Amino acid sequence: MSDTQDANQTHNNEVVLFSLDALDIRGRAVRLDHIVDEIISAHDYPQSVSTYVAQLISLSCLFSSLFKFDGIFSLQVQSSSALKMLACDVTSKGEVRACASFDEDHADEDDFKLGEGYVVFTIDQESEKDRYQGIVQIHNGDLVESVQHYFNQSEQIPTGIKAACNQDADGRWTAGGVLLQRLPDQGGTAEKTDKTDARDQWQHAMVLLSSLTDEEICDRDLSLHDVLLRLFHAEGPRVFDPIPLVKKCRCSRDKLLDVLRSMDPAERADITKEPEIEVQCEYCAEKYKFSAEDING
Ligand SMILES: [Zn+2]
Repeated sequence: MSDTQDANQTHNNEVVLFSLDALDIRGRAVRLDHIVDEIISAHDYPQSVSTYVAQLISLSCLFSSLFKFDGIFSLQVQSSSALKMLACDVTSKGEVRACASFDEDHADEDDFKLGEGYVVFTIDQESEKDRYQGIVQIHNGDLVESVQHYFNQSEQIPTGIKAACNQDADGRWTAGGVLLQRLPDQGGTAEKTDKTDARDQWQHAMVLLSSLTDEEICDRDLSLHDVLLRLFHAEGPRVFDPIPLVKKCRCSRDKLLDVLRSMDPAERADITKEPEIEVQCEYCAEKYKFSAEDING
């Protein structure tokens, strides 16, 4: 493992793929700096909502890298509280966008904690028709706990996640995390470990993961490779080609125009009473202006 060849010495804004071969574990690490900061700064969310958005972005980047797909991976959270919805998607090209919707009548930050609800995982493939969807209930108002539960229960894959985010004194957001998954028993290998060994190895890896601090996850100047070496130095982590990430929304004037034109006639007549109609993308906050003629064609 060496950083000498890398232009991006910190490995921020990419998913670092690694394995701990001796423990039969695969891992992912991510730290986002300007991407998460720009996504959140485009909005005026309450602090708790921004914190959930930051968490959701890092979790989405970690999870999207676990699947082989050609299209869009998305994580969506539906909650019964004043925080109504969180959404993030990551394309197979590493393009990330995220947003939240909340009840603006509330002023108390505690009202924006996650309530009862669901986290939905979706993979939409561009080339094939098949769509993967998984769902898990929100556990204890905690995103990380909820998604960890999803992998442990629904997918039967022991999964450990440590995630963190923060806003520094200059107002800049950083978010990241490390995920470990125990690989399914391949069977038939010469060095097949027995179940007790496998359980001990997994426990050992979880103890190591729990020693990772929020400061290490969010320190923009600390190389993610160094973080992994500190955590797993005895296990000798093997690092693979990373997945670069960029902030990119998929909205366009044409797509919004399609939406406006497909509204029912009464709604359309109502909005086209105004000479100019402004529509804002809920993900990236870009504003698009249309005339009544644009919409009525
Ligand atoms: Zn947009």
